[in-house]
Amino acid sequence: MEKSVTLTAQELGLKQVGKIYHNLNYDELFDAESAKKEGRVSANGTMMVDTGKFTGRSPKDKYFVHQRPSSENIAWGKINKEMAPEVFDELYEEVLSYLSGKDLYVTDGFCGANEKTRKSVRFVTEFAWQSHFVKNMFIRPGAEDLKGFAPNFTVYNASNLTNKRWEEHGLNSEVFVVFNIEKNVAIIGGTWYGGEMKKGIFTMMNYWLPLEGILSMHCSANVGKAGKTTLSTDAARKLIGDDEHGWDNDGIFNFEGGCYAKCINLSEENEPEIFGAIQRNALLENVVADDDGVINFADDTKTENTRVSYPIEHIENHEPSLKAGQPKNIIFLTCDAFGVLPPVSKLSKEQAMYYFLSGYTAKVAGTERGVTEPQATFSACFGEAFLPLHPTVYARLLGEKMEKFGVNAYLVNTGWAGGGYGVGKRMSIKATRACVNAILDGSIEKAEFDQTRWFRLNIPKALPGVDSALLNPRNAWADKEAFDATANKLAGMFIENFKKYIQKNEDFDFTKAGPQL
Ligand code: MN
Repeated sequence: MEKSVTLTAQELGLKQVGKIYHNLNYDELFDAESAKKEGRVSANGTMMVDTGKFTGRSPKDKYFVHQRPSSENIAWGKINKEMAPEVFDELYEEVLSYLSGKDLYVTDGFCGANEKTRKSVRFVTEFAWQSHFVKNMFIRPGAEDLKGFAPNFTVYNASNLTNKRWEEHGLNSEVFVVFNIEKNVAIIGGTWYGGEMKKGIFTMMNYWLPLEGILSMHCSANVGKAGKTTLSTDAARKLIGDDEHGWDNDGIFNFEGGCYAKCINLSEENEPEIFGAIQRNALLENVVADDDGVINFADDTKTENTRVSYPIEHIENHEPSLKAGQPKNIIFLTCDAFGVLPPVSKLSKEQAMYYFLSGYTAKVAGTERGVTEPQATFSACFGEAFLPLHPTVYARLLGEKMEKFGVNAYLVNTGWAGGGYGVGKRMSIKATRACVNAILDGSIEKAEFDQTRWFRLNIPKALPGVDSALLNPRNAWADKEAFDATANKLAGMFIENFKKYIQKNEDFDFTKAGPQL
């Protein structure tokens, strides 16, 4: 376990250091987690940890330091909240003195698989499992890369340090997750949750890359055997990544070196790849296991947000370069519980920008009276929580790249058909798969298209493997009046949500791209 100190206190920005565990390998991390009783081992040899009080991110405690020049780029608001530089300086001092003298884990990784634009990130953490988590999630540098590794950005994670003066500082709580773009530093306090580091660096990528003309996206990506790329998921294709990607002049690239999958109700039958990825070197969070270490994936006692992080190598069918060339197809997946959107529609560039900006999906939420009804969610670019710049920046880049590289875009509804929730039924996986396959093999391009009334979406009249009655959602509903009323209602919600973008972008005419009443 004894590891020679490779970093000085000064190099870490600390007054003094205890033991520094710098870039431990997986076995060393496993031993440290066991020795310090941070976790226990599952029946199949996978480390299981509890993430403490927080079993998810704390988005309301996330801040950017308000200072030039970044303050002119950031879209300030509920998601991107400001912290005064003086408050940051005070918290930063506290974090550094809190970490000084402690035994620390220092983990170096890359974010971005394109060597030309990747960012070198250093994480300073108190727990071995946090080091293990970021080792899983970020791209693991080789021995050569580690020689003279100079971080572009450093995250200081002081999990056990809370901000006692949060009220005085005008903050949300004693928890803080703060990004200082000019200093290239983030500080975290009051939460142990590892996802803050993963999505925190994603947020930074969403700041840096668009300013360099690179589109960053919250999406999965896979590539076919012939080397074509698409942004969807399919077990028969090679996985590039499942959560965060960039799109530049060389093509599509993963930001990450691992996956962070949900575990609740996980089964080998339904999710064989994730199930198989849970093995030594993976890290399980907040799952419940019996005395023999046998996990009950249905148990949500600790949280519904049980997770596993694992290096992407645990997915046999992954693309080792984590990259591919220019994409052929972009697929927006939406779960429309209103049953209004067609199972598949082809989008123009303007429609792609519109639906990207809208980031629509609908959940079925229970109400107090036990009535369940669909609830529309609009999350810009399907990841509004992680966008420091104005959402239209990303939408514009999407439109530019689609045009430049001749990429098709489609909207696929995996939600309800033949009626909304309670009347219609969930789109079958078979139907969705047939739609995606028709996109991937190009056969959808040969179809004749119709346009829907409310959303003006171009839908194929027939598609192999899909019941033609499903393709036009109005035809799939028995009650046409009810369809029109529901479509009108959903169209109204889209229009209402989109108003904020129209005001900011008078040079863009999206009125034809969106629905009409
Ligand atoms: Mn995600």
